[in-house]
Amino acid sequence: MHASRYTSRFAPSPTGHLHLGSVYTALASFLDAKANQGFWQLRFDDLDTPRNVTGATTNILKTLETLGLHWDGEVDYQSLHLDEYHAVLENLLFEGKIYRCKCSRKDLTPIYAQTCRNQHIPANIPHSLRIKTDAREISFNDGLQGHISHNLAEQHGDFILKRRDNIVAYQFAVVLDDFRQNINHVVRGMDLLHETPKQIFLQQVLNLPTPNYVHVPILVNEKGEKLSKQTLAAAVDLTAPNLVLFNLLQLLNQNPPPALQAENVETILKWGIENWQLAQVR
Ligand code: GLU
Repeated sequence: MHASRYTSRFAPSPTGHLHLGSVYTALASFLDAKANQGFWQLRFDDLDTPRNVTGATTNILKTLETLGLHWDGEVDYQSLHLDEYHAVLENLLFEGKIYRCKCSRKDLTPIYAQTCRNQHIPANIPHSLRIKTDAREISFNDGLQGHISHNLAEQHGDFILKRRDNIVAYQFAVVLDDFRQNINHVVRGMDLLHETPKQIFLQQVLNLPTPNYVHVPILVNEKGEKLSKQTLAAAVDLTAPNLVLFNLLQLLNQNPPPALQAENVETILKWGIENWQLAQVR
């Protein structure tokens, strides 16, 4: 029954605070879920442990709460599912769908040359795990970006599912996570658009359903750079959360009436849900 209910998620990495760009994506995903009577779940993509920042999780939870972006159900953490990822990798290795690769960074070309694909690399040698891609065409209809089609082998090559430092790659984990959480709608930033075909390919290899995808634009600063930790985007200022939300509704091109900015967070979100027009986000 519930499998068909709209279910989506926001999946921040706990690598720092939420800046306006991340909250913009969170709000788009929240409003699209709520306008479709959906569940909106929260998951921390916390596998890349060297990049995790102490306190970031608490800080992100507090930011979302202050903005009234309440998630449904328990918060999930990728780090709780390490056994599951490793078990699936074992299985894929056994089935010959992935292989050990001992190439180091300096040996690598942008599209991996498949040097290790047909070699037998013993488990005790430092290695990554790569998936055998093929020339299949992966296509999907993005809810905002239209028809996207990639040739996996040509455009991505055999990509990494587990890094040499034993860290499970985001690409792979996200596919199992979205399945475990029954995610059937993903609304996230455009920076992940070109990663999506890899995720769909993995869903096909693992016989898992493909969610609907919507990739929203990325906010940029005055220099035209993506707002991110690398470009030193500031944490979202929570002194007036209602103004943050009002501003984001404007940035999402939802045309909120000026009087709305004086209202509280709940009223603004209610207006946002009732008047949500995904197609206007450009
Ligand atoms: N954790 C990813 C990020 O912060 C998002 C993953 C996703 O939405 O699939 O960029």
